[in-house]
Amino acid sequence: MNFSQRAANIKPSATLALANKAKEMKAQGIDVINLSVGEPDFKTPAHIKQAAIEAIQAGKADAYTAATGILPLREAIATYTNNDYQTNFTAKNVAVTVGGKLSLYALAQVLFEAGDEVLIPLPYWVSYGEQVKLAEAKPVFVAPALGNDKVSVVELEAKRTDKTKACIINSPQNPAGLIYSREELEAIGNWAVEHEIILIADDMYSKLVYNGNQFVSLLNLSDAIRKQTILVNGLSKAYAMTGWRVGYTVASEEVIQKLAAFLGHATSNLAAVSQYAALAALTGDQACVEEMRQAYEERLNTIYPQLVALPGFKFTKPQGAFYMFPNIRETLELTGFKSADDFAAALLEQAHVAVVVGSAFGMPDCIRISYATDLASLQEAVKRMKKFIEEYR
Ligand code: PLP
Repeated sequence: MNFSQRAANIKPSATLALANKAKEMKAQGIDVINLSVGEPDFKTPAHIKQAAIEAIQAGKADAYTAATGILPLREAIATYTNNDYQTNFTAKNVAVTVGGKLSLYALAQVLFEAGDEVLIPLPYWVSYGEQVKLAEAKPVFVAPALGNDKVSVVELEAKRTDKTKACIINSPQNPAGLIYSREELEAIGNWAVEHEIILIADDMYSKLVYNGNQFVSLLNLSDAIRKQTILVNGLSKAYAMTGWRVGYTVASEEVIQKLAAFLGHATSNLAAVSQYAALAALTGDQACVEEMRQAYEERLNTIYPQLVALPGFKFTKPQGAFYMFPNIRETLELTGFKSADDFAAALLEQAHVAVVVGSAFGMPDCIRISYATDLASLQEAVKRMKKFIEEYR
């Protein structure tokens, strides 16, 4: 088959490669601890499932909906966003999509074209660069200054050209779990306003913030920065709803209208049943979100000291999301592995612990460890990693 150049250029999702291997090993009866997954280990809360069942039984889930979603859900998303970010959005500013992933993909399709450059700070979520390339634009990756975990305006400005169209800011971050402070975001926001660069704020993990750290959205700063920002969010992580595929964009009516046209041809709409589930999630009791957040926090606080004590593991304690992203350069030197990729492959093969390699996120000396897994398994995984490293020292 003669595939398009576009297809030839796509890198398959690297987060899935080791995860698939781990699944195969599990199927063979091997006791693999899978720390490669990017999804909550919790079940979707019962009241959300119940609302979906009721929607099906009432016949509400039988037909297409508007491309951008049912009105009550768009209203609920506007209210939810306004409450969190002190904004004034209405349903007209909201498009519901098949996961936050499709929000980001659709935005790339309606905003970018050949010749455009899009700034993407390191470490980045795996799909940003590929989605930008699928829109024929060029991803420009921006590394933090030496010794820093996050990029600042200095590094962004160094990569800015007259082709720079947008910059994608993810906070709390996947994979390092770090949060941009208000001051850092203000500086980035003002720089974007000055140079008319669109900011895409991926706030997917905004509800998963730990140990008194504060999350601030780009939407919650000055009016000028808010006007420059397009929000992407979703229910996958905070409500343990990855399978329901509920994401959304909040933006100006102009942007939403373009997205609506795109979505009308791409997916029509997110499955109606998922929309009713999402409505129940956003308008119902929020205690479930806090319960899950507390569980992640406990895991983080228990596991971080153990992981950072492993020989050569160096990383800042995450503030949000549910990943840790140690730099293991020194561990590689101690153990003789040539790369973190080799280390991760051997770790899976011999110690039966699956992680994701940092190269998937633009930082090849790191590995990503997800703590969306029960505490007992996490503790056992750390024990296995310690033994594995000792064996190679
Ligand atoms: N953005 C980030 C940073 C993510 O980690 C993910 C999922 O892993 C997404 C967006 C997309 O999530 P979903 O499509 O499930 O809403």
